[in-house]
Amino acid sequence: MTEKLYLKDMYKKDFDAAVTRIEGTSVWLDRTAFYPTGGGQPNDTGKLTSNGKEFKVIEVRKDRDDVMHTLENADGIKAGDTVKGVIDWEKRYAYMKYHTSIHIFDGIVISQHASEGLSTGSQIYQDRARIDFDMPQLNKELAQQILDQTNKIIAEGRRILVREVDRNEALQMPNLVRTEPGRELIKRLDTVRIVEIENLDMQMDGGLHVLNSKEIGKLELSSFTNKGSHSKRVELRIID
Ligand SMILES: [Zn+2]
Repeated sequence: MTEKLYLKDMYKKDFDAAVTRIEGTSVWLDRTAFYPTGGGQPNDTGKLTSNGKEFKVIEVRKDRDDVMHTLENADGIKAGDTVKGVIDWEKRYAYMKYHTSIHIFDGIVISQHASEGLSTGSQIYQDRARIDFDMPQLNKELAQQILDQTNKIIAEGRRILVREVDRNEALQMPNLVRTEPGRELIKRLDTVRIVEIENLDMQMDGGLHVLNSKEIGKLELSSFTNKGSHSKRVELRIID
């Protein structure tokens, strides 16, 4: 199983590892700080250096309990080699800020409007985040109000706490999982990773976050789309 350094230290930008397997341009390492695509957060990119040569990491995916890195070109790298990995930090840090922003926005929706609506999905980009809601009463004005509250919480410098609890404890925590696939998944896990926005929100989550909300800066509502009474789309963008 690949040791997932990104889960232990979300700010880890570089690391040393050994190549355990290679197939074509796909490479498996004994440990990695490269985040694989999942939970609405895109994979990291960056480079591996081995034997004085640089290899571009263009895609990273989960492969059961392992992490598979796709290189642009893998000529000159083989199993047993030691590599130094460096992730594209600017992009990753933007993903972390947007991921935490989504949880804060969603946490406000859940705490104030939960009986009326729910998030149905989200996607993180380097320059924005998108959240979809099945929430008939959500309109541009309400979205702006929720965003204003989100900015207030960001400015307060709330801590983001990540921890693991065992499944039985997790099952007793209310509203930890908000989607049907998530509720199914939790039953199959021994331990559940929880991301908490201090005094606001707690969710089962495998993604990467900033440790203090202040790091996000300030958000604007870059767009609101009414796609039907059960489908509203909110887009957030960091403006400073
Ligand atoms: Zn998340």
